[in-house]
Amino acid sequence: KDFTSDQEVRWCPGCGDYAVLKAVQGFLPDLGLRRENITFVSGIGCSSRFPYYLDTYGLHSIHGRAPAIATGLATARPDLSVWVVTGDGDALSIGGNHLIHALRRNVNMTILLFNNRIYGLTKGQYSPTSEAGKVTKSTPMGSVDHPFNPVSLALGAEATFVARTIDSDRKHLTAVLSAAAAHRGTSLVEIYQNCPIFNDGAFEALRGPEAAHRLVRLEPGLEVTVDEQTWAHDPGDVNPSRQFALSRMDDGTQTQVPIGVFRQVVRPTYDDQARAQVESDTVTRGPGDLQALIDGNDTWSTP
Ligand code: SF4
Repeated sequence: KDFTSDQEVRWCPGCGDYAVLKAVQGFLPDLGLRRENITFVSGIGCSSRFPYYLDTYGLHSIHGRAPAIATGLATARPDLSVWVVTGDGDALSIGGNHLIHALRRNVNMTILLFNNRIYGLTKGQYSPTSEAGKVTKSTPMGSVDHPFNPVSLALGAEATFVARTIDSDRKHLTAVLSAAAAHRGTSLVEIYQNCPIFNDGAFEALRGPEAAHRLVRLEPGLEVTVDEQTWAHDPGDVNPSRQFALSRMDDGTQTQVPIGVFRQVVRPTYDDQARAQVESDTVTRGPGDLQALIDGNDTWSTP
């Protein structure tokens, strides 16, 4: 079954979002799941229209809050494959708090972070990933903000799966998203996505065969050099220090930009542990009496 919905896709012609949608529609059937077991949760922004375009279940939710809603879903419904679709503004500005806590908790969900370094839906204001000095409608004299590097942020929060890919390389996009989907725990994939209307060419230096030398395609064991230190890339290293150093390889000039999987480690998930606690508590003490707690005006104590 392909999971293409009957909804008209409303992104601008040439938008990088189309490539991501095609890639997801391409590999989703390979997961072997029924549509009622797949949920896409989005926030607000251009990319957050994503759930409409898949014939799965989905929720176009509130600005920045998709990771919080997805946390509840993943915890209450272990039978679901839970996805979050978000953009650089939605995830890193309005939803920055929710994102970092989902990452550190290791909730079983896959987060696709479309990074076009601009607010597209609201017509071109600078975002938390816009480069310093960026002139936009909201920064007419140039941004004085220091931008986030989403991969560095996720590694700093010790997420268990962190990767980056680019909308112009369908094969790489598909491979990375498939690996993220197969990971148990929170997967964060930053996708460099072109917005041809409000920030065209943000990743132009990385597109096409002539740019191939600028992309450092990460593989386990690949020799990498950052700040004159050389080591073999190990995504399975529990200590994220070297993966973090790798995420700083790009000095903003896009001369050397790593893409692929930075980190993939195993850690118990929040949702598995929460369910185990509830189950063991129910076995030990029997089902809780919520009404008794409410009647006693004390919903914090245990009965
Ligand atoms: Fe895509 Fe930009 Fe149009 Fe939004 S404004 S749909 S990101 S091209």
